[in-house]
Amino acid sequence: MSSGKINLLGLPREQMEELFAEWGEKPFRARQVMKWIYARGQNDFEAMTDLAINLRERLGQVAEVRPPEILSRHDSIDGTVKWALRAGAEQAIEMVFIPEDSRGTLCISSQVGCALDCSFCSTGAQGFNRNLSSAEIAGQIWLARKELGAGASTADRVISNVVLMGMGEPLANYRAVVPAIKVMLDDYGFELSRRRVTLSTSGLVPQINKLAEDCNVALAVSLHAANDTLRDELVPINRRHPIKELLDACWSYARQYSNRQITFEYTMLEGVNDTVEHATQLARLLKNRPAKVNLIPFNPFPGTRYTRSPQATIDRFRQVLLDHGIITITRRTRGDDIDAACGQLAGKVNDRIRVRLGSKMISVSVQNQ
Ligand code: SAH
Ligand code: SF4
Repeated sequence: MSSGKINLLGLPREQMEELFAEWGEKPFRARQVMKWIYARGQNDFEAMTDLAINLRERLGQVAEVRPPEILSRHDSIDGTVKWALRAGAEQAIEMVFIPEDSRGTLCISSQVGCALDCSFCSTGAQGFNRNLSSAEIAGQIWLARKELGAGASTADRVISNVVLMGMGEPLANYRAVVPAIKVMLDDYGFELSRRRVTLSTSGLVPQINKLAEDCNVALAVSLHAANDTLRDELVPINRRHPIKELLDACWSYARQYSNRQITFEYTMLEGVNDTVEHATQLARLLKNRPAKVNLIPFNPFPGTRYTRSPQATIDRFRQVLLDHGIITITRRTRGDDIDAACGQLAGKVNDRIRVRLGSKMISVSVQNQ
């Protein structure tokens, strides 16, 4: 529901400064407000005590700092936290925080549903509802910081990394995602390093090329197959942008920033894409390239025709890649006790509004021994 006020969350610095200029305010006032919002987590203009009273009043009348509303929060015994957030009357998105020894990763959503219809993804199965706004995307981080800070302010509650791997295809919502990323990277915003913000895409080539120029964050590409026949079936966008075109875009993306590695995500589907031949094909594509591979054990959901590859198959697949000198990690699931690995949670707590969530593998990367 819109309040008619401008939501300042997710507004990049230049736009904040333009807005303040329209009000006859100096650009540094905009930066001052951003510091309050992002560094101090403040959303009450009255509390921004170093601003003139008339500016505070104006802000109160025309602007707001409004994150998405929390529908539910679930804390796992392993420290993982999952939230369901309202994204409209009958819609929800999910956000997950995954603490590790040396970092804390927040996984956020970019759309409600997804139009790209990958055959093994339950977000895809639910179809596309709508794009999130920049305020809703950046607002997830703002909210998570507040939520995590509220309980304990220990180091393991700090968000050091953000991954756009929740619901939706971020590059299909380019107009809202890029401003939100700008705020993530800005010294007056969330102050995250560009190596610690990862955008995951199923392969929208024109937008990958554009992203390289607009904000070169770390890129993860959902490959899942090393030949076009199979990838056409698993990731239908491949019919428009086949593997060669996608990989060319990846290598040129990497080149723009001193050959920084691209992560290739590969969901392990039993008997579909997990044989030694598949691994060899994949190795041929990625060998001697700035690439590393994340093997993701498939996360089943009701109605899916796929099953997860057994651990031995995953290990064998990984070994082939390692033998070709390709860095390969296997993800492990986290937050199993709170269903962080799939979207059943909000369905359970919020039957009343018939929320349907994507079923995502919420997981972290660990180096296998
Ligand atoms: N739309 C983007 C980002 C969101 S999906 C993309 O496709 O990259 C994030 C990752 O989860 C992708 O690699 C996606 O392929 C993977 N994924 C989707 N459904 C899955 C499932 N059921 N099990 C395991 N991984 C899944
Ligand atoms: Fe969309 Fe990503 Fe799911 Fe494909 S895997 S349907 S692009 S969310």
